[in-house]
Amino acid sequence: MLKSKASQNSLDQRNATRLRVLEHIRTKGSISRIDIASALQTSPATVTAATADLISAGLVRETEGEAHSRSAKRGRPRVLLQLDGPSYLVAGLKVARQVISVILVDFEGNEVTSHMYALQDARMSPRDFVRTVRLALEETCAKIDRTIDGLSGVSIGIAGLVDAERNFVHWSSSITERNVNFAAFLDEGLPCPAFIENDANLVAKAEQLFGLGKGLSNFLVVTIEHGVGLGIVLDGKLFRGNHGCGAEFGHAKVQLDGALCQCGQRGCLEAYVGDYALIREMTVAGQSSALETVSDIHDRAHAGDQRAISVLARAGQMFGLGLSNLINLFAPDCIILSGAQVSFEHLCSDDVMARIRNGVVNVDTALPEIKVHHWGDLMWAKGAAAYGIEQVSILKVQEIAANAS
Ligand SMILES: [Zn+2]
Repeated sequence: MLKSKASQNSLDQRNATRLRVLEHIRTKGSISRIDIASALQTSPATVTAATADLISAGLVRETEGEAHSRSAKRGRPRVLLQLDGPSYLVAGLKVARQVISVILVDFEGNEVTSHMYALQDARMSPRDFVRTVRLALEETCAKIDRTIDGLSGVSIGIAGLVDAERNFVHWSSSITERNVNFAAFLDEGLPCPAFIENDANLVAKAEQLFGLGKGLSNFLVVTIEHGVGLGIVLDGKLFRGNHGCGAEFGHAKVQLDGALCQCGQRGCLEAYVGDYALIREMTVAGQSSALETVSDIHDRAHAGDQRAISVLARAGQMFGLGLSNLINLFAPDCIILSGAQVSFEHLCSDDVMARIRNGVVNVDTALPEIKVHHWGDLMWAKGAAAYGIEQVSILKVQEIAANAS
């Protein structure tokens, strides 16, 4: 049935109120209706209606708080609202080159279980990709005697250009095809709603929710692993750009007609800093035997290998140049260098800091703080789960409205 514009608007408004109430309960842990109304500057009747809907959808439940000292003469306990944690199970995944890390969380974000699923192929067709994600999910659910049918939402983080709103992947190093509309593949391959998002955006979300970005309004997260990613938080919100793709810092050009990048272009930052680039540089120098990871190059540099030392130093210089451009563009409170199990001490050396200082325009003010956050693959998945919870909340609130009309 077609709705008039006016009724659609009032529906959107009611949904927005339900979501605001839900998010406020999430932030506070447990809170009374009257306190929600005063915090959101809305009427108690509006909050009562919204919470009734959220309770009937299984998103929120009532608990008994401490008795009011003044208002409840006979010590009647206060009714508080809190999230109905166990009601929904959400999966967050991070697809890397050799492994998919999976975390299952309840609706409050508490970890239920996690799993590492070894990957045979780093690059897959869209259909094989979804099939592999499903296998990883099935193994994870089996660990807690559940099945994949018990999931309310699945959120997947991958490297590349992703339009999260449409589940559209313009390009990813994990996928063999370009411009893939994943919505159909996900519908066909998974039993619940699924969402794809750029992995660096998920890390920015995780840093903002439970990491070094907590309480900051403007910060950048530079992710360093196979490639180089960037998550931008401006005025407390993730900035995704016009096509939802966000920022591809790894493909910012640092050299005219420079080294060939995995995206097909030349002179990208990633083509000097990404681990594949470092390994390629060493290979070109005829030192490829038994050299598989950046850690191997570090080991050689520590042992005095001049080639390894110069490859790492060059990567650091290029990285410093890139970071100084970011500071000139955004003037952030802080830049968080975030990586999973990767050695990147060569990217935060004194030489790199000097290069940054030389490249930043305003030399009279202090540089933004540059913090290093080493975290495991599971934190990427945790960021994916946070995004999944947000998306499931939106869907469930929309369902309330659909059922009511
Ligand atoms: Zn590139």
